Amino acid sequence: MTTKHLRQFKDALKQDSLRMTSQRLAILDDVLGSEEHRECDDIYLSLRQKKVPVSRATIYRTLDILEKAGFVRKMDIGDGRFRYENKLAQTHHDHMICLKCGKIIEFMDREIERRQDQIASDNGFHLVKHSHQLYGLCGACQDLPAAEDQSAPASKA
Ligand SMILES: [Zn+2]
Ligand SMILES: [Zn+2]
Repeated sequence: MTTKHLRQFKDALKQDSLRMTSQRLAILDDVLGSEEHRECDDIYLSLRQKKVPVSRATIYRTLDILEKAGFVRKMDIGDGRFRYENKLAQTHHDHMICLKCGKIIEFMDREIERRQDQIASDNGFHLVKHSHQLYGLCGACQDLPAAEDQSAPASKA
């Protein structure tokens, strides 16, 4: 974490009339130390492992601030649970999301990016950002038997 990031974080907290605390600092540190797409709960567990006493409410609130300040990307993958990823460590990418196991695969395709820019400009549209989320089944889940077979009560005599 650089001093620039620290200052940015402090300013963002101040805008919400919040102070920098060791807990909030630990949340930022945890977020910047990960390259996964994690739920609030994952971050909560990670902090507990580090013996940081922090509530889920504080994590949620801090994540919102980190999102506003551009530290994290908040992803709605359609299952009602937001995922957060470290935005600073990464260049732009989009996501494929497995509907069965929740696996998230990142991709970046220059041609898609280029076409998007072109389509926007053809329409006189000033593009600020975009997000692609492709939904389907990952390789491992395609190989599994249908879900009904697995969850059905054992009926073998
Ligand atoms: Zn899967
Ligand atoms: Zn990602």
